[in-house]
Amino acid sequence: MRTKVALGIWLLGITLAWMAVVPPDLGVAPLVNAQGTALGWWQLRQHAIYLSGLWSISLMALVMLLALRLPLFDRMLGGMDQVYRLHKWAGIAAALTAIMHWVAKESSGWIKALWGRAGKSEHDAVLPWLTDARGFAKDLGEWAFYLLLAMIALTLISRLLPYKRWRILHRAMPLLFLALVFHALALMPLTFWALPLGLLMGSLLALGSLAAVWSLAGWVGRSRSYAARIQQVAVLGDTPTGAPIEVICAMPKSWPGHRAGQFAFVRFDATEGAHPFTIASAPHALGHSPEGEPLLRLVIKPLGDYTRTLHQRLHAGQRVDIEGPYGRFDGQGSRRRQQVWVAAGVGVTPFFALLEARQPGMPTKGRDAAPVHMHYCTRDARRDPLLSRLQSLCAQAQPPVPLTVHNEAQGERLTPQDLQGEPGPLDIWFCGPQGLGDALHEHARGPRRWCLHRESFAMR
Ligand SMILES: Cc1cc2nc3c(=O)[nH]c(=O)nc-3n(C[C@H](O)[C@H](O)[C@H](O)COP(=O)(O)OP(=O)(O)OC[C@H]3O[C@@H](n4cnc5c(N)ncnc54)[C@H](O)[C@@H]3O)c2cc1C
Repeated sequence: MRTKVALGIWLLGITLAWMAVVPPDLGVAPLVNAQGTALGWWQLRQHAIYLSGLWSISLMALVMLLALRLPLFDRMLGGMDQVYRLHKWAGIAAALTAIMHWVAKESSGWIKALWGRAGKSEHDAVLPWLTDARGFAKDLGEWAFYLLLAMIALTLISRLLPYKRWRILHRAMPLLFLALVFHALALMPLTFWALPLGLLMGSLLALGSLAAVWSLAGWVGRSRSYAARIQQVAVLGDTPTGAPIEVICAMPKSWPGHRAGQFAFVRFDATEGAHPFTIASAPHALGHSPEGEPLLRLVIKPLGDYTRTLHQRLHAGQRVDIEGPYGRFDGQGSRRRQQVWVAAGVGVTPFFALLEARQPGMPTKGRDAAPVHMHYCTRDARRDPLLSRLQSLCAQAQPPVPLTVHNEAQGERLTPQDLQGEPGPLDIWFCGPQGLGDALHEHARGPRRWCLHRESFAMR
């Protein structure tokens, strides 16, 4: 909802700024005059080309800015997952409006075929120093458009390209944006540089280009990146290949600290790049290393090609770069609702941190912790290496947290209906697979109007 509203406001702002610089009579009526000249169609085509072009390039500038992972956007949109969501949908909207731009441009052939060329206006004057670049800017724009469409298709149809290769390609997006900025600068009519559109587009193109260069230089998140050290690595469970690993990291003293439930981008290996992992310990829960560095815990499940190799790659003393902390999964719901926490598989990691923050002796933030009922879904409770820790954290929490385990090996799969027995309106905090999250989301919109909190990250 927030994403749709933000995109709606963005497009409306651009449209209003455009309306301020075009003549009030757009000259589109009649589309074909008494002499059979398609003056109105040609005008309509011209306006459609310009307005869709403005929409598209401004949305791309927004995409570039959101990719910077700025704390300002995190605050404004209510979490980094919302920033990612808007980044993705602004990218899709940019591609759709680029298609409108292309269709409007191509429509000249149809208008000519039906009514002839008469009434087609001459080229608008553009920035004087770019007058000779028209042909090149048009070709560049067309190729960048095709590449943009290909990129969006690869993003949406994930089976076409594995995540890792997609990510490498995705890094080239700022280059595409810079090409399209040149296209826009060279072809935008001189009259559009009048206020307010000129100021708006000038600022967006400049800020978007700066953001693109920032991304290409690899500086995104640099100010929130900390050089840490692996203090300890342990395999949890008896089969190293399928078992999660626990990594204790010693953070530099400049680490600003985190709140329980937050995550960070973790880079163990410069060639691999950063992966998001939840900080699975409460602030101060692990104390400090002998050198006085604050410690934090990651619990990593071998879910993919890279994470499957981590138990062999990681060792104590190794450098690790940690960027963050990010996120708002803090388990602080409304007092008027019953708090229900639902974790599935490695989605239990933020709840480790939230439960640790409720252990006796941990600093409280002035208010008593609200009562919670926790549900945990596991494939096989007998072989689950995370379950015993969860059970003892729940039992020792203040107040104790009742835990219901849904053991798939015994046919106990959690469904939204299982939560209907909870008393009163519910505040549900969920972390786990997308399918269960979507089912809870659907149910939450029903007559019972549950309030569902989940960090819905789709990094692609
Ligand atoms: C906010 C957040 C918190 C997470 N917390 C934990 C945690 O505490 N413990 C845990 O085990 N897992 C956690 N994950 C999942 C973890 O990030 C992925 O399992 C891991 O990155 C997979 O990498 P891979 O190369 O082994 O897998 P692949 O097979 O290459 O990828 C599997 C999927 O993982 C995701 N992914 C892969 N690489 C990245 C990347 N660099 N950035 C973003 N997503 C990526 C993609 O969706 C991809 O489709 C978290 C994910 C998010 C978004």
